[in-house]
Formats: sequence, structure tokens, C-alpha cells
Amino acid sequence: MVSLIKYALRYWPRLSVGVATSIMTRIARLIPALVVAAAIDRVVLGDGDPGLLTDIGLLPPGEIVTEAARLSLLRRLVVIAAAAYLLRSLTRFASRYLLQSTAQKAQRDLRNTAYDHLQRLSMTFFVNHQTGAMLSVLNSDINRLEQFLNSEFRQLIRVVATISGITIILWSYSPKLAVIALLPVPVIGLASAGFLTWIEPRYQSIRETVSRLNSRLENNIAGVDIIKSFDRYEFERDRVATQSDQYHDEQINALRLRRGFFAGLRLMTGIVFVAILFVGGRDIILLADDAALSTGSFALFFLYLRRLYSPMRRIGRSANKYQQAKSSAERVFGLLGQTPAIADPIDPHQPESIRGDIEFDDVTFAYGDRKPVLEGISLSIERGETIGLAGETGAGKSTLTRLVPRFYDVTAGSVRVDDVDVREYARQHLRRGVAIVGQSPYLFSGTAAENIAYGDHETLNELRSGDSVPDAVRDAADAAEADRFVSDLPDGYETEIGERGVKLSGGQRQRLAIARAILNDPAIIILDEATSDVDTETEQHIQESLSRLIADRTALVIAHRLSTIQDADRIIVMDDGEIVEQGTHETLLTDSGAYADLWSAQIDADSATAD
Ligand code: ADP
Repeated sequence: MVSLIKYALRYWPRLSVGVATSIMTRIARLIPALVVAAAIDRVVLGDGDPGLLTDIGLLPPGEIVTEAARLSLLRRLVVIAAAAYLLRSLTRFASRYLLQSTAQKAQRDLRNTAYDHLQRLSMTFFVNHQTGAMLSVLNSDINRLEQFLNSEFRQLIRVVATISGITIILWSYSPKLAVIALLPVPVIGLASAGFLTWIEPRYQSIRETVSRLNSRLENNIAGVDIIKSFDRYEFERDRVATQSDQYHDEQINALRLRRGFFAGLRLMTGIVFVAILFVGGRDIILLADDAALSTGSFALFFLYLRRLYSPMRRIGRSANKYQQAKSSAERVFGLLGQTPAIADPIDPHQPESIRGDIEFDDVTFAYGDRKPVLEGISLSIERGETIGLAGETGAGKSTLTRLVPRFYDVTAGSVRVDDVDVREYARQHLRRGVAIVGQSPYLFSGTAAENIAYGDHETLNELRSGDSVPDAVRDAADAAEADRFVSDLPDGYETEIGERGVKLSGGQRQRLAIARAILNDPAIIILDEATSDVDTETEQHIQESLSRLIADRTALVIAHRLSTIQDADRIIVMDDGEIVEQGTHETLLTDSGAYADLWSAQIDADSATAD
């Protein structure tokens, strides 16, 4: 919670004026009752009883006898009341605006920081955490913190300012009655906080029961054919009825407790009302004139009673919200406390550019504590070489390639790029030299041109600031065989694509991703099953763009269809995390080993689909 408050304190001028105006609102709300009291005593009864407004000099002292004097006093009271209402609405506007905008700003900062931190965490973190859970931290938890800052904080000011204001005023009129009126305040506060902590587990259990009931209903409706075919109507009806009953009973129980509690609170307010009526009334009757309570102040006590107790009842709710906000804060700041498992070394290697030599030296790798998925891999790749990776699904081909940009760290051995261990690089410098074109490339919401320029800072800036599409983007698209279809889109390069824009086919997405990689001009290219799932004509286009992409670069090509790596300089065949064979397409076929088996299996499969 302290960390949360720090985010709000960054806006301390706004926050402190917000708090001050909020206190003023509460004070302004207490004035009309004082005006009523003064009107009764002085205007109606014409008494000289001073009262608070006279004490602070807003009304003239002494008895008011003449009609003219009473009228003038009434006018003053009208002005005071009007000023109080005006003050109240102005300060209310200012305080709400200032406090809510502080909460919004804190929310924005927190979300930006959390997101920025999240995206820097290593891939291992993302493997171990569900997308839904992370989204709920970035969304619901951060929203809940904003709401807490926004509403519960104001509640706190409200309770403290109102109760202290009323205490001071009532005390100045009659300490004895003030004690009677204030006695229930701590009782109500503690009782409602305690009640809520106590009833919350019951509500939790109700929520669980209702969710069980719902999934039972959902299951039964989805499986209605099974119920019918086995004639299990009665069995299911009884099962549903049992859960319905449980839900009903728990609700009724909670209802009884809740209503009982609030009725108890009301009763306490009633007791205080009666006590003040009796003690105050008796004083008025029995005491000498100057010791007794004035009629107006007597009324004042009743006017303030409600003001006093209603915010107290909210204390329970605030305590509850505080609990919720606390657990949200734990999740959000827990995320912020995660240190990336993969970090740059102290004095990182920051080469101008990457040449493209890769070496795997006796590499073993396991995801977390699981059994290794790569074992004893040694492989030396020269710049410009095209390496095809073949092997069954799950053999470890993708994993091997992901070690090059250091998405994961090896468990044993080392991966070197240009003769330097990848762990010694500044990641940014290493990753700038490596591009991955995946099977279903992700396109961001934005224009086609933005998606192509994505990897290159300068081009992206040029695109954002200028009004024409930079040549680099067109050239890259041209090389990737994407220029034609992009130009044919409704707004050409300016067409919105991605989630909310024009939908592109798999082949088109791939060509955009290839253009993106070409523009970035990396020394090392990783192609992951880049040509599955597209028709033959597109495949031809893609092949052409791919061969342009991998010309003069080091390429690691993982392909489902072996024909795509047929022309590779070298093909590495993997099985169960190990390299079992390597050579060119021809030599591997003549060796009649694992590759030859994969190849003939593929030919068989192809002819089977062709039939
Ligand atoms: P291939 O690319 O040859 O199909 P992968 O490298 O994708 O093989 O997978 C190798 C093994 O590692 C498989 O057993 C797979 O289940 C496992 N694996 C892949 N990715 C992860 C991951 N993110 N977390 C845990 N295990 C993984």
C-alpha cells in the first residue's frame, strides 16, 4: 500500500489541494444546520442565545426585539446559508475533480510502469504465467487500485472531517449531550468492520456454490443427449435440487445476519435519539435559563445525528475494499518486483553490427526443472550459411533457434555469436542482428507500412512524422513480394491491418513479416515453418521472397515440408533433443538414415493428399 501511495504522491500539489477542498466541503455541509438552529433561537424566538454563528462573529450578539432587527438577521442567515451551499458545491467540484484525476494519473503511471516491466521479463516468465492472469493484473487489479484511491480515500476524509467537525460543534453546545451522541460512533465503526470481515467468507462460499450450480446447469444442458439416452432425469433433477437448496440456504442465512446487523445498528441510533430527547428536554425544562440548552441547539443535535452515523456504516465497506485493494496491490507490486531472469552483464558487448557466425558448444537446455529438451548439441554455422532443421515435432528445433537471440539461457554449454557468448552481449545489440519469421506472424494494429517498419527505429519515426511512405518500406515490401497486394489494399500502405483492420490471408501476413525482416537487415534469420498452410501459388511467391531474405545472411530454417529446405547448404536432423544426422539433401538421402525416412514419409503423405 505504501508503494501505491507513492504513485499518488507524485501529484502532491493536486492531491493536497484535493484533500483541503474535500475537508472544506464537509465543513460547508455542517453550516445549514447551524443556520436552522440560529433561525429558531434568534429569528423565531428572538432570544439572545449566542450559538456558534454568533460566537464566530457572523451574527450580532444580544437580544433581537424589533421586527426590523429580526428581518435583518434573517437576511444575514439567508446570505450565510447561500454562501455555505455555494462553497459546498465549488469545493465539492474541486475536490472530486482533483482527487479523481490524481487517482487516474496514478493508475496510468502504474499501468505504464507495470506493462514496461512485464515486457522486459524473460520468456521463461511468460511460459510459466497465463496470459489471462497477467491481463487481470494489468486491468482489474490496477483499476481496483484506482477505485480505492478514488472513492475509499474520499470516504476516509469524509468520516474524519465530518466526525471531528460535529464533535467540536456539539461539544461547544453541550458536552453532556455530545458524549451521548458520540458514544455509538466507535461502536458502529468497529462493529461494521468486524461484521464485514466475518461475513465475507460466507459470501465467498455463496459465490462458490453459485458457480458450482452454474457449471452443473451448463454441463447438464450441454450433455442433455446423454441424460436422455440413459434416462437419468430424476437423478439429475435431484442433483440440481440439492445444489439449489444449498444455495438457497446459504443466501437466507447471510440475509438474516446482514439484515439483523443493520437493524441492530438502527436500534442503537434510536436509543441515542431517545436519550438525547429525554436528557436534553429535561435540561430545558428543569435547568435555569442560562444553563439550559437553547431550543435551536436542541434541534441541532437531531439534525446532526444522521450525519454522524451514516458515514460510520460505510466504514465496514471501506475496510472490505481496503482488503481487496491490498491483495491487488500485492499482485501488481509483486509483478513489479520480478527481476528478469535474463539480464545484461555489467560491461556488455555492444558491437556495431553482427556478422552472423553461430556456434553451439555442447549445449544442454531444459525448460525450468523439466527434463532437458536439448542435449549435447554442438554445431558450428558460418556466416551466410543456410541451415535446414528437420525432425519430428517436439524434437527441439524451435527451442534450438530461440537460444540464439537469448530468449532462454542454456542449462549447460554455450551459444556464441561471432565468437562471443550470447550472455556477454547487450541484448539489444544481439537481437537487432537476429530476426524471427514465425509460422503465423503477429501483426500489430496499425497500418501495413507501420507493420513493415516495426523493427527499424529510424524508418518507423520517418513514417510517423512524414506523410509519405518511406522508400525503405516500399523496397522491403517489393523484395518480399508484398508490394503488389499491399498497393491493392483500400488505402494502400496506409491501410489499417491487424486485429481491428483489414484481415489478411496467411500468405499475405507472412510476406509482410518477411518485408519487416528484410527492412531490419539482420545478419541472422530464423524461419519457423514459414510456408505451411498456404496455397501453391502463394507458396511460390513466398519462396521467392524468402530466398531474397536469406541470401547473404545466416539462416536457420525450420520446415515442416522438407522441400523448403531441400536447397539448404546443410540440413541438421534432430531427434529427441539431439542431432542425429547432418549433410546436404543428396548425401542424407543416399545415407538412407532418419532424413531419408522423413523424406519418404512426406512423399507418401503428399501423394495421399493428392489422390
Ligand atoms: P520442434 O520445434 O522440433 O517441434 P520444440 O523446440 O518446439 O520442438 O519442442 C521441444 C520440446 O520442448 C517439446 O517436448 C516441447 O513440448 C517442449 N517445449 C517447447 N516449448 C516449451 C515451453 N515454452 N515450455 C515448456 N516446454 C516446451
